[in-house]
Amino acid sequence: MSWSLNIGTVAGTVVRIHLTFLLFLAWIFAASYAQGGSASAYDSLFFMVLLFTCVLLHEFGHIFTARAFGVTTPYVTLLPIGGVAQLERIPEEPRQEFLIAIAGPLVNVAITLLLVAFAGANLNASAASAIDNSQIAMIDRLAAVNLFIALFNMIPAFPMDGGRVLRAALASRMGYVRATEIAASIGQVVAFALGFLGLLYNPILIFIAIFVYLAASSEAHMVALRAVSRGVPVSHAMVTQFATLAPEAHVEEAVQTLLATSQGEFPVVDAAGQPVGLLGRGDIIKAIKTLGPDARVAEVMNTDLPTIGHRRSLEDAFKLLQEKQAVAVAVTDAAGALIGLVTSETIAEMVMLQNALPRGATLGPWNRPSSV
Ligand SMILES: [Zn+2]
Repeated sequence: MSWSLNIGTVAGTVVRIHLTFLLFLAWIFAASYAQGGSASAYDSLFFMVLLFTCVLLHEFGHIFTARAFGVTTPYVTLLPIGGVAQLERIPEEPRQEFLIAIAGPLVNVAITLLLVAFAGANLNASAASAIDNSQIAMIDRLAAVNLFIALFNMIPAFPMDGGRVLRAALASRMGYVRATEIAASIGQVVAFALGFLGLLYNPILIFIAIFVYLAASSEAHMVALRAVSRGVPVSHAMVTQFATLAPEAHVEEAVQTLLATSQGEFPVVDAAGQPVGLLGRGDIIKAIKTLGPDARVAEVMNTDLPTIGHRRSLEDAFKLLQEKQAVAVAVTDAAGALIGLVTSETIAEMVMLQNALPRGATLGPWNRPSSV
């Protein structure tokens, strides 16, 4: 998380800049300075800032459309390869996903049209192929690059918008899981093609190809995982054997527990057995360094530990884990006492189980109508 800087909040969404993006700007500046002196360096820098403003507007196209369907977006992050809006969830309703996905590229098309209609921008091939050429008017380059962003994002591969448009189109005809599998396979073929083009023409394409390939696999995994976890009560998959700490225990004791177990995260439980926080390995090490062994667990624990009732589904627990970007979700019984944990390890184990089963099979006994 510390790799990103917050630069402000727009309509409830925090805008973050990844440090690699700042390095990227510095690199652009230095490269054009070496080529054409300071005038050229400032020209390039200004152009990049305009360009990424357009990328940000693209992301807000997604964000505002998602909001119309009741989906909020806590963060949008600018990376050298573009922007990433972290929607709280992606609607599984094909029409909604389609509209959210297409809204981004449409923003860039609109910017291009506005630049041509009102700023006299000239759309021509030379501007598109030489966006770093300061001999060509900046407005022409900006119009060309917006059109390029729109087209590039419509490549039918996750995490490109085109991948989501494709899935939405497929999902209206077949199931969501099958549609994702097909869209992800097409995405991986596209990734290979991009990587090959990258080898021939432009090494940046190779990075994008790797990114697309990984995103396609992880999207397919997540969706399959959600499908597998849908009918499963959280109490059937949660971790039930773990050490806990009391809020009034000393950090010293936390260190002993850390050494005695293979756990990395310790739920903190009050006298009534209710979860009140979570203490991670990193927190323990930091506390012993800054506050010493006599500090209390309650002073150093992380208090926003999401909780979920034991009758809810594993899918809900995964959603909570994702939405809150938490390391663990506490599972509680009817009295609110801690009885289990769902962590990213639970996800990893579910993925392994799911991969071990034949395609389309569900996790047998879990899938019978249960007490959920
Ligand atoms: Zn987009």
